[in-house]
Amino acid sequence: MTNAERLRHLPAVDQILRQHDVALISDAYSRPQLIAWIRMAVDECRREILRGAKLDKKSAMQCVIRGTLHQCQLEDGRRQTSVINATGILLHTNLGRAPLAARAIQRMVQSAGYANVEMDLRSGKRNHRGERIFDLLAQLTGAEDAVVVNNCAAATILVLQVMAAGKEVIVSRGQLVEIGGGFRLPEVFAASGAVLREVGTTNRTYLRDYEHAIGENTGAIIRVHRSNFFQGGFVTEPDIAELISLGKQRGVPVIDDLGSGCIKDLSKFGLKEPAVTDSVAAGADLALFSGDKLFGGPQAGIVVGKAKLVKLLRRHPMMRALRTDKMTLAAIEATAEIHLSGNPMQELPLLQMLSKTVADVRTDCKRVLERLPAAVANRIEICECTSSVGGGSVPGSQIASCGLVLNVENNDAVAKSFRTGSPAVVPRIHNDAIMLDLRTVDATQLDALAVRVEECLTPGQ
Ligand SMILES: *Cc1c(COP(=O)(O)O)cnc(C)c1O
Repeated sequence: MTNAERLRHLPAVDQILRQHDVALISDAYSRPQLIAWIRMAVDECRREILRGAKLDKKSAMQCVIRGTLHQCQLEDGRRQTSVINATGILLHTNLGRAPLAARAIQRMVQSAGYANVEMDLRSGKRNHRGERIFDLLAQLTGAEDAVVVNNCAAATILVLQVMAAGKEVIVSRGQLVEIGGGFRLPEVFAASGAVLREVGTTNRTYLRDYEHAIGENTGAIIRVHRSNFFQGGFVTEPDIAELISLGKQRGVPVIDDLGSGCIKDLSKFGLKEPAVTDSVAAGADLALFSGDKLFGGPQAGIVVGKAKLVKLLRRHPMMRALRTDKMTLAAIEATAEIHLSGNPMQELPLLQMLSKTVADVRTDCKRVLERLPAAVANRIEICECTSSVGGGSVPGSQIASCGLVLNVENNDAVAKSFRTGSPAVVPRIHNDAIMLDLRTVDATQLDALAVRVEECLTPGQ
């Protein structure tokens, strides 16, 4: 039989659509998409025939079905879904940063339909979006007022636009950081229309540098928390209180971009982060932080500070473009309630994971091992390791932890099968081995994790 004759064995698209295996899943994808995949599969099988594959009518059909189902699988793998975070990085930006508290999740679900986002149910009249939430955030931080936007970068742009558009904003050269994803604060600042006035050097900036830079055209002084790296050695910079005192003397507002948004004192975990309350108490005109870092809530940019300034932000036209949706507001409301009157160390997954001792994590490691057949468990060792906070918080943080180290031949292939199965598990590579750091794995996920470990370590998988 010639190749030309074999090519005639390739099935037509609508023939494939009627095949049992394809018909079964066809509802899950749009028809044009499915047809495009079938065409891709037909093309691939045509190439196989031209390369010399001896496909008869039946095997040609199978070839196209297999190719189509493979495309469907690839698509499924791209779907946004929950993952088990076994990296030990608590605020993993690529994994959605802070996991939400159960109470926050519940409130998001409740708000998913119609919700009183902008209505006072007692009077039936319109009120301001987020009113109660801003009150809670003000209470929590000791500030006069608060407002919430889409994320901390948006908060920075809005704040600088309102306070310093067309004017200078004074910032230390030691604080011009890149916040990840290739975004650099100087560029974010510039997007606001403010003119950056850099002072000092990378390692040393003095109060007098700020002082000399203040002039007629100064809009604000901004302090940026170095969120994802730390400086040591021959370094100095004024603290926020000194900047605030200078700002007061010269009538220049001082903005504190905290990023990490530390609410609870975390020093007992060996973590030193500037607290939002300290910044407010010191008299910062505005303090900004992310909702999904140490606050433990959803992605958001939270601005707290002087009532007069917050009011200006709220009225600015950009606010309409940066405002958050009802789901985010619901989650922030619940998270703020937990900080104010709940039990944050237990209710907020982030703080709960942070407060686990090494012994706690080791117990979880043992629980996973106990669920595994001996042949699999024999290839796993429990090892001490270090977790980190990540996500632009607490640079250089190291938290003693414990994890499972897997003895496998091909790290990359096994790591991939962890990531691509269900539920997806994201491990980390440590000393050239796959390691599952259980600090970031919740107790409720241990069963599922054990199933995945068995699956990925069983030959033939
Ligand atoms: C994380 C961080 C940001 C960016 O916050 P997003 O909420 O991700 O936009 C900005 N500034 C600092 C200091 C940060 O740490």
